[in-house]
Amino acid sequence: MLNIKDLHVKLEEEDKQILKGINLEVPAGEVHAIMGPNGSGKSTLSYVLSGRDGYEVTGGEAALEGEDLLEMEPEERAAAGLFLAFQYPVEIPGVGNMTFLRTAVNAQRKARGEDELSAGDFLKEVRAKAKTLKIDADMLKRPVNVGFSGGEKKRNEILQMAMLEPKMCILDETDSGLDVDAMKLVSEGVNALRDAGRGFLVITHYQRLLDHIKPDVVHIMADGRIVKSGGPELALEVEQNGYADILGEVA
Ligand code: ADP
Ligand code: MG
Ligand code: MG
Repeated sequence: MLNIKDLHVKLEEEDKQILKGINLEVPAGEVHAIMGPNGSGKSTLSYVLSGRDGYEVTGGEAALEGEDLLEMEPEERAAAGLFLAFQYPVEIPGVGNMTFLRTAVNAQRKARGEDELSAGDFLKEVRAKAKTLKIDADMLKRPVNVGFSGGEKKRNEILQMAMLEPKMCILDETDSGLDVDAMKLVSEGVNALRDAGRGFLVITHYQRLLDHIKPDVVHIMADGRIVKSGGPELALEVEQNGYADILGEVA
């Protein structure tokens, strides 16, 4: 599903190399977790894959189902099935949450050559999915994320993901700032989307999210590289011993 080879990325404005040769393959049907100390480049990886400005790819490849992601505009990447749940979801004053969701869903359908969802069908779907995430009608009517609590913003990201039904879902620290109940809701939302045809890349600082979303593979990232990969036990090792042991071992 997602195929990254020797990806090198620097900041556009500065001579600073952030990603120093990332190799990563996420097959359809699998959940891969990325853990790593602050500043190791986890968010940068998710931004570069989704097409955010400000970064320059200086080498390597990234493909979604064999299609070169790096050549595509951000909206083309989304239409191809890539989704990023932001570490810091942005507020969009003046744009109703429902309008935003409907526009995004229909833009994606159009890009795939499908008909728009009727207003009725859209409403039915969004209400059902919002309900399972405990997002109330008021939150659907308000401008996107404006005045939402941290946990509500993260749940709203998962609602977007559930509505867009992407092929490759990237979650950047979706668990940060969540209380236990919100973490459970978010995890249930993610688990409901787990599917043989869909891949997940779950970036997290903490093992506890991975108690709810069971990863197939855990990668440890440090200083712009994946330095170790293993099974779910690797996350437990990090939780118990911190990163120092693993980083020392690799060095
Ligand atoms: P992580 O998500 O693993 O905490 P980031 O990808 O956010 O790491 O950051 C990796 C490194 O790149 C950090 O040292 C960060 O300060 C730097 N960095 C990322 N984006 C920018 C930017 N736009 N301007 C300056 N430094 C940046
Ligand atoms: Mg960080
Ligand atoms: Mg980050």
